[in-house]
Amino acid sequence: MYMNKKGVAILGSTGSIGTQALEVVFEHQNLFDVRVLTANNNYSLLIEQAKTFKPNSVVITNEIHYETVNNTLSPLGIKVYAGKSSLCDVVSEESVDVVLTALVGFSGLQPTISAIKAKKTIALANKETLVVAGGLISQLCEENSVSLLPVDSEHSAIFQCLVGESPNSIEKLYLTASGGPFRGFSRSQLENVSKKSALKHPNWKMGAKITIDSASLMNKGLELIEARWLFDVAVENIEVVVHPQSIIHSGVQFEDGSIIAQIGIPDMKLPIQYALAYPGRIKNNFKRFNFFDYPNFSFEKPDEKVFRNLFLAKKAIYKGGNMPCVLNAANEIAVDAFLKEKIGFLNMSDLIENCMEKITFVKNPTLEDYLYCDSETRKLAKKLI
Ligand code: NDP
Ligand code: MG
Repeated sequence: MYMNKKGVAILGSTGSIGTQALEVVFEHQNLFDVRVLTANNNYSLLIEQAKTFKPNSVVITNEIHYETVNNTLSPLGIKVYAGKSSLCDVVSEESVDVVLTALVGFSGLQPTISAIKAKKTIALANKETLVVAGGLISQLCEENSVSLLPVDSEHSAIFQCLVGESPNSIEKLYLTASGGPFRGFSRSQLENVSKKSALKHPNWKMGAKITIDSASLMNKGLELIEARWLFDVAVENIEVVVHPQSIIHSGVQFEDGSIIAQIGIPDMKLPIQYALAYPGRIKNNFKRFNFFDYPNFSFEKPDEKVFRNLFLAKKAIYKGGNMPCVLNAANEIAVDAFLKEKIGFLNMSDLIENCMEKITFVKNPTLEDYLYCDSETRKLAKKLI
């Protein structure tokens, strides 16, 4: 029985995706077994999770908390590691079948690479990994015959629409977007929006970084790049459609003009469960969608002149090379500065654009180039603030 359970490693188990993944696992303990949990700062939640799920190993990346975690969990037979390099080690543990990457930002890149090299299935929530180094990751997946299963709701939707279809029959992808809390705003209205209002997403409850990305439409830009790599579709064949109800999670138009889309109420537990259970589906008791609660669906074109981050993300992926890595690093610094109320909402795009102009372009980056580019961009962005 034990042998048949899927061994799951959850990187970033204390976050929004991580905690929801644990809820999914908790409901299906006959199918899944947690083997690895990791946190950055939230050691108390990590300890609580480890006591419930009894993983083989945990990692606390912020080493300050190592002693506390180790003193509590070692006596229970759980191995405790500290530091970010440990993330790269634990993913290759033999008992792990699938690695859910629910870390935020660039921190997801190297552990994901290690997991791919160890031939683990990847349930990918950390979209920044594909934004930064999509070409490299795709190549590594191919070399190691590893599947990248999307957790992002839009990409899970597209993935589900593609089941049984031939990939070369795709004509176009439709990536839906809620439009965020500032949908319909002008640039002058965006000028003075507060951190508090930006953190109030209309349809989803998520970590702070992605919530700001959703408000600025950078999230959709990152998702466009993510989709380009996951489904090997040219950027010009991916269209962003603002759909404020967030019920249609995305869709595929095939070469005969037929569109298949996936719908459901917004709940990340569904795409998380789909990725963990893939290729099967499992019964659950999540709330069901009712058509009559939503008599009106609406659709709009995103305004890239107001929400410049979407425009910049497209520019970065068209340019290719290390440009999406620059975009991502500058955005991480910009979001952090906005959250610390050091810069205004619109300054985020200015900062990103400035970095994209100034950082040296590399056409065919290696992993070392990405690491260097990420750190140089962060330095520059901090200087420019
Ligand atoms: P959260 O901020 O809620 O959680 C992030 C997790 O990663 C936490 O466990 C945190 O640890 C850990 N972490 C943060 N920084 C580091 C670091 N530098 N090194 C190691 N661990 C770190 O984020 P979300 O769960 O919202 O998002 C996770 C990923 O999933 C992101 O890439 C996001 O874009 C993507 N995603 C999220 C969705 C959502 O609904 N939340 C939807 C679609 C995609 P700690 O808390 O202990 O400090
Ligand atoms: Mg999404």
